[in-house]
Amino acid sequence: MRFLPIYAGLLMVHSSTTLIATEQQFTSGLYPKRALAIVRGEGARLYDADGQVYIDCVGGQGAANLGHCHPAVVAAIQDQAALLLSCPEIFHNDQRAAYLSELAAALPMPARIFLCNSGAEAVEAGLKFARLLTGRTKIIATMRGFHGRTMGALSATWEIKYREPFMPLIPEVSHVPFGDVEALAAAMDTETAALLLEPVQGEGGVRPAPAGYLEAARRICDAHGALLLADEVQTGFGRTGKLFGVEHSAVIPDLLLMAKSIAGGLPMGAVVIHERHGALPAGAHGTTFGGGPLVCAAARAALRVYQQEDLPRQAAEKGSWLLERLQALRLPAVREVRGLGLLVGLELKGRVQPILQALLERRIVALPAGPNVLRLLPPLVISYDDLDEVVSAVAAVLG
Ligand SMILES: *Cc1c(COP(=O)(O)O)cnc(C)c1O
Repeated sequence: MRFLPIYAGLLMVHSSTTLIATEQQFTSGLYPKRALAIVRGEGARLYDADGQVYIDCVGGQGAANLGHCHPAVVAAIQDQAALLLSCPEIFHNDQRAAYLSELAAALPMPARIFLCNSGAEAVEAGLKFARLLTGRTKIIATMRGFHGRTMGALSATWEIKYREPFMPLIPEVSHVPFGDVEALAAAMDTETAALLLEPVQGEGGVRPAPAGYLEAARRICDAHGALLLADEVQTGFGRTGKLFGVEHSAVIPDLLLMAKSIAGGLPMGAVVIHERHGALPAGAHGTTFGGGPLVCAAARAALRVYQQEDLPRQAAEKGSWLLERLQALRLPAVREVRGLGLLVGLELKGRVQPILQALLERRIVALPAGPNVLRLLPPLVISYDDLDEVVSAVAAVLG
């Protein structure tokens, strides 16, 4: 009884309004935030500090493919938290050993794996490994590509407003139009270390690679001795209807970069290195937190759920259903509906910001992908009922 009034008191104090004011006072200011204080999540539902429920089509910006607080991941984290939290890679560790072998078995290629802590770190490491493995420095990336905000990853990111304040970035990075085979062939030469691309461009407007493009990219890389780096930070872990986006093709990348949903919501990244490149030189790269036991335990549980619940297939089926329903609406305000799996974009004729606000008023949170694309990125466990509500809301706000 003693705790009840205190608990109730805390709930009162931490209303959305108070939380937002406190955060606004001390936050860096870097993020244009929505006036929403999220305190709990379950599956594809989010709850704010006032107890309001929202259907989640933000999906932790790609980190929540598994749904919020998946019980298997929560249990793995709780168990591991009591055993060992940190363990740098100067030691071996049971959770890491198990995760490396389990992830390796799920990959489209035989591989070695470098574990890190985020998408940008995976890209950063990928760029360094490409230099190490080829002895070359030129990088080709794609227009509208997004690869993260650290200096190297930012150099490969296309959006000029992200790059401009930080120029000069790393040299010898060029951008070719995504999907244009001839432009790629013309840009690549025997000084090119790597081509870096996303199988489906996420931030850049939800644009799946045109049929045959990845195959052509693979051939062009091979012809010049350049590496193919697949940035699967957003497309990985079931999002597009396969465990990895490249698996929609027969293309095997040299490096496969992943993060976001790898560990069921905890921060983690990985660079998968095709076995033919062998082990990297000792000491050439590293990170203190990478491959820690807590995230490895969470990632093991997450991988088991992706496999046991066949979330890639669920994403494929729900994604096709959602895409067809949205296309069938024939909304005059929508130029195109496109996507792959549960990575779905609606290219609007107008700006997306007011639409996001209108959806929020209907208790649906969603993402932009550029100024005029509405991006739906729900957890793969979302129910058809919730997807149905999303379709109705989109129809209402865009109709
Ligand atoms: C989000 C994202 C990144 C960056 O990941 P962070 O964890 O935010 O650093 C890189 N590449 C792609 C394709 C992404 O979607």
